[in-house]
Order: sequence, then structure tokens, then C-alpha cells
Amino acid sequence: MKKINTWLEKNKLKNFPALIVIVTFVVFIIMIISFLNHNDEDSSSIYVIEDAELRTGPSSAYPVISNIDKGQNFQKIGKTGKWLEVESANKKEKGWVAGWHTNLDIEADANHNAKPLKGKTIVLDPGHGGSDQGASSNTNKKSIEKVYTLKTAKELKSLLEKEGATVNMTRETDKYVSLDERNIKGDAYISIHNDSLKSSKANGSTVYWFKDNQKALAETLSASLQKRALLTNKGARQENFQVLRQTDIPAVLLELGYISNPTDEDMITDQLHRHILEKAVVDGLRAYFSE
Ligand SMILES: [Zn+2]
Repeated sequence: MKKINTWLEKNKLKNFPALIVIVTFVVFIIMIISFLNHNDEDSSSIYVIEDAELRTGPSSAYPVISNIDKGQNFQKIGKTGKWLEVESANKKEKGWVAGWHTNLDIEADANHNAKPLKGKTIVLDPGHGGSDQGASSNTNKKSIEKVYTLKTAKELKSLLEKEGATVNMTRETDKYVSLDERNIKGDAYISIHNDSLKSSKANGSTVYWFKDNQKALAETLSASLQKRALLTNKGARQENFQVLRQTDIPAVLLELGYISNPTDEDMITDQLHRHILEKAVVDGLRAYFSE
């Protein structure tokens, strides 16, 4: 003890007992704080610490089931990587949420805010062109599909390039390109069209896929389009289109509204409306490539 006292005196810390009381008090406070913040990884009851999305599977590539609000409680029923399978108390809602949106101590993926499209090659295929006009409207506007598929593709191209993607187009001008010639390789392939039917009532957007490796991209883009909810969402559907059949890469065919429906036609021909849809496609691609 003498030695300690001598050392304390040397170091001008004569008030040794008071020091002990202070240190004990600080340790006690730290213990209380860590107890209050204690998160039991195995705890089955969790809550969401910020607005998040409930998805059909354990990654952001899966479609959104619903948006969930900060503070919402769930029972944790499973875990894959950093994703939790959860169920609402009334068992009405069930799905997957990213662990970093919950009270559990799970760190967000390092690249979760990064640019997932950086370095990706996206092929854009504006439908029709040249002598092939595609569908047309019956209104005074007499809108022609080939014009708006090209406008959409060009606008989408510049948005995707801002995300760091390389964009290859099957046509950049109003020229005829055969379906065979449209088979260009990349990380994803998006064929852009507008629907039409004799009945002017038909409306909405549809995302088509054909091969199994195209389904996830179609569902992700369909969910993303639904979120913006401008056009009625008709969902992701399987269809044997040549541009989908002839490629091995994840590919979809977007029918972005019915040019034969006057309301859809207004949206197709309006640059601001197109921009919202194009942003939805970018969001969907970001989600698809973020894993
Ligand atoms: Zn078409």
C-alpha cells in the first residue's frame, strides 16, 4: 500500500479513495447503459427502427410485399445471412426484412448504398422501328409505338449511365431491326414496348419473362413499377416472346402502358410521366443487382 501511495503522490493522485468511488460509479453507469442497449440475437420479438420493406425472400432482389413503418413489431421466425424472416403479431403479414432496419445489432452490407449498376452492361431494346411502326393510338394524337419506345430507351439510357452502367441499344434511330439482330449480350436485357388492344379500356403495365433465369428480374421490375403506381400494374407474366427466348441472360419485355387507352397514351407521350416509369426501372435494376 505504501508503494502505491508513494506512486500516487508522485503522480499527484493523493485522493485515491475518491478516485476508486468515481471509477466504480463510471463502470456501474457503463454496465447499466450496455444492459439497456442489450440486444438478444435469439430474441424472437423484434421491431423496426426505421421505415423498411417486407420482401418475399432474404435479399433486396426479391419483390416488396409491403412497406413497414418505424416501430412496427414482428416475431422473428428465421434468419438467412443478414436478413430476418418475420411475422406480424396477428400473423397476417409474413416476409423478410433486412436485419439492419431492426433493433437487432446487424450491420448493413458494405455496398448497400453503393452503386450496384456500376460496371454492369444493360441492353435496351426499343421495340419496332423504321417500316415496323408497332401499335398506334386511335385518338387525334395518333401516337405511334416505335416513337415512344425509342424515347423511353434513350431517356432510360442516360439515367442508367448516371448509375455507372454501360448501355447498349439495339437501335438508336428510327430504323428497322429484325428480332434476330436484337440478340445482344449483357448483364440484363430490357425490351421496351407499349401494348394495344381493340378495346380502348385495356390499360396498365406488364413485365414479361420467359426463361426461369428471367423471372426474378421480371418480378423485381414489376414490384418497382407498382411502387410508383402510375399505370395499373398487371404484374409479371410468362410469355414466349422471341427476344426473351433467344437470349440466355436475364431478360424482360416491358409493356409500359396501352397506347390504345387514352389515359395511358397521355402518360406514354408525357415526358414527366415517362421519367417516373424510367426511375422505377432504374430502382428495380438497382435492387436486382444489389446482391
Ligand atoms: Zn410492341
